[in-house]
Amino acid sequence: MYDFSRCKLCATNGARPKYTLKKATVYACPACGFHYIDHLDDMPSGPQGSSAQALDQKARSYIESRLPGNEKQLRKNLQLVKRHLSLAGASCLDIGAGAGMFPHLLAEEGASVHGIEPQGVFREFTQQKFGIELQGETIDAVHWQEGFKGFFDLVTLWDVLEHVNFPAETLRDAYSVIKPGGWLVLDTPRRDALFYRISELSYRLSGGRNSLFLESLYSPMPFRHKQIFTLRQLVQLVESIGFSVIQLHNKPLQPQNKMVLVCQKQPGNGA
Ligand SMILES: [Zn+2]
Repeated sequence: MYDFSRCKLCATNGARPKYTLKKATVYACPACGFHYIDHLDDMPSGPQGSSAQALDQKARSYIESRLPGNEKQLRKNLQLVKRHLSLAGASCLDIGAGAGMFPHLLAEEGASVHGIEPQGVFREFTQQKFGIELQGETIDAVHWQEGFKGFFDLVTLWDVLEHVNFPAETLRDAYSVIKPGGWLVLDTPRRDALFYRISELSYRLSGGRNSLFLESLYSPMPFRHKQIFTLRQLVQLVESIGFSVIQLHNKPLQPQNKMVLVCQKQPGNGA
């Protein structure tokens, strides 16, 4: 059992509950200001990942119904990636591949594609829809860390960092499988966005009775949002790991309040 008074980002002890939501408590770190909830997913170990849910007709229809919106956003992300590297023949890893749309788009560009998706229902969908085999083992697994060290030209994390148990570790593990001069491109919601700040204000003014969007920004359900970075926290984190931030997009007024980071592992930096 993880002790949530220990900051998930900087490991300082003394993090305190800041917002008590209906289903989760948001902790805040006094040292680095990180916000995260008091919940971790039981992570499946081994190549099977989580296969609790079956890909029945209902699940398939639901995933299909969300695919067009998914594709629209991911095609934009693809254009962003293509500004920085040529995908034909590139070795790419999409972490948190979901229904497989981004691996599919990468494959269309002629890339050599790998993908990680811990939920079996999405892996099965991806296999059937796109003929792409995703792996259930997460990026910390020996399969990746020993088998693909310094291997990839590109690693992508679309809407993943807010979902994983330990985002700093996920980024370090991603760093180690990227080759020198290779790329990490990601997007994630940002906490220093208007929605979040208004919600915090509302929480304070109502004595905790009305937390507006905080309830929907965090969830203790499996694979849902566990932490939300500020832009500064995320930039500092990737730089401390060894990446250079090459391009940065703020979308503070978009519904998801996302930030997009294009990072490069320093050329000639062996490990
Ligand atoms: Zn901290």
